[in-house]
Amino acid sequence: DRITVSELANRMAERTSNVVRLLARLGVPSAAVDEIDQDTAELVLTEFGHNIVRVSDSDVEIGMVGGVDVDDHLAERPPVVTIMGHVDHGKTSLLDALRGTNVVKGEAGGITQHIGAYQILTKDKHKITFLDTPGHEAFTAMRARGASVTDIVVLVVAWDDGIMPQTIEAIQHTKAAGVPMIVAINKMDKAGANAEKIRQALLQYDVQVESMGGEVQDVEVSATAKTGLDQLIDKIMLQSEILELKANPDRPAEGNVIEARLDKGKGPLATVLVRRGTLKTGDIFVMGSEWGKVRAMVDDKGASVKSALPSTPVEVLGLTGVPSAGDPVTVVESEARAREVAEYRAGVINAKRIEQEPANLETMFSVLRQAKAQVYPLVIKADTQGSAEAIAGAVNKISTDLIKAKVLLASVGGITESDVTLAKASGAPIIGFNVRANAKAREIAQRDGVALKYYDVIYDLIDDVKAAMAGQLGPEL
Ligand code: GDP
Repeated sequence: DRITVSELANRMAERTSNVVRLLARLGVPSAAVDEIDQDTAELVLTEFGHNIVRVSDSDVEIGMVGGVDVDDHLAERPPVVTIMGHVDHGKTSLLDALRGTNVVKGEAGGITQHIGAYQILTKDKHKITFLDTPGHEAFTAMRARGASVTDIVVLVVAWDDGIMPQTIEAIQHTKAAGVPMIVAINKMDKAGANAEKIRQALLQYDVQVESMGGEVQDVEVSATAKTGLDQLIDKIMLQSEILELKANPDRPAEGNVIEARLDKGKGPLATVLVRRGTLKTGDIFVMGSEWGKVRAMVDDKGASVKSALPSTPVEVLGLTGVPSAGDPVTVVESEARAREVAEYRAGVINAKRIEQEPANLETMFSVLRQAKAQVYPLVIKADTQGSAEAIAGAVNKISTDLIKAKVLLASVGGITESDVTLAKASGAPIIGFNVRANAKAREIAQRDGVALKYYDVIYDLIDDVKAAMAGQLGPEL
């Protein structure tokens, strides 16, 4: 049940070099001729944004790849954008401003409906989809579930407040996901506005905007005075063109759940972001381990619609239960098939939970060993900036030709929920130096099988990491 890297790339209509690069990022350095196992192949498919329908161990369907559909019948699709940034830097204001200025006047009476995402129509008639749950928690939680729906991140930084802890976290999460970023320097209407100092400050976090010789686009905006919005939209469209986002609209729909809830009157409701194909009323679908038939769909303007194209968010009525955010959505041909896939997934999910239960480093290493992992990712939290930097510096130096440590995050403070989601998304353990995890973080780490290790002596920490990395390589070392 193995497949060569080039064959996998071929089947996905993806460049082999992109697959090789992804494998390296996943910690499985491989050449084009190397064979990888079914699980790794699935991981690659998921990372490329494809929903995998696995109804038996040998039956895997291939679809979306790198945000691009593999069908030959392709049409452009709108980019899906998430806005991130520190609290009070203007994420909500910017989402409101973008929605307000660009919603086609008179459409469905102009009443907006919160369904978790909305679409705007630009002046030159392009659509952009915004996920309207700002912040990196939602983004990372989705990614941890294998639902990388975001094509572009807009990082909002209020010029007067500057780079703050959540700004830094947003940068790290975006980088870990490999999603391009556009920096929106906000509150430019305030007296004494100075965007240059933000561009400068970003350099420290390895974000180089174009005027600093880098490749990251930036734009000065005011969410409240509504300036710079057109430029922001232009930059999103430019980035979108570079990404060449495409999908086949003429096939059964696939997508992801953006949010879901139980409505007292209507029953279970889920907002689905369609990623390929067209979702239609009457379609039979599976959402995670729930299934149903589309009885009605409502768009972000509160209008009832009969179909939804790629990158379109719609609220769907007709589920048997409430799915989770991030769950894959797949349209199938019959109720029997829907039940079968839902049950299979329920089984898979249960099996995964059991597999993940022993939350210790040893299990983690054996899992990584099986995956031939050659990159050792780590999340480091420490009591002071000085120790965080010292540990990250020392750990980053631990590398051989066979394995290399990679610090995803090194920052000050206790271990939080957000650290755990980041660690989980990348399969990394969390190292606490003179800090502990809070109750919530501990609970999630236990549930998701993320290893937590505490130290108060740097020397011991480094020794353990070295031992763990050597262990990961197996008996060859
Ligand atoms: P969020 O926490 O990032 O979603 O931030 P909000 O959108 O809630 O904004 C926080 C505060 O900053 C609110 O009082 C906004 O009115 C204000 N604010 C947001 N954008 C701007 C702006 O461009 N200029 C000014 N002067 N204030 C802004």
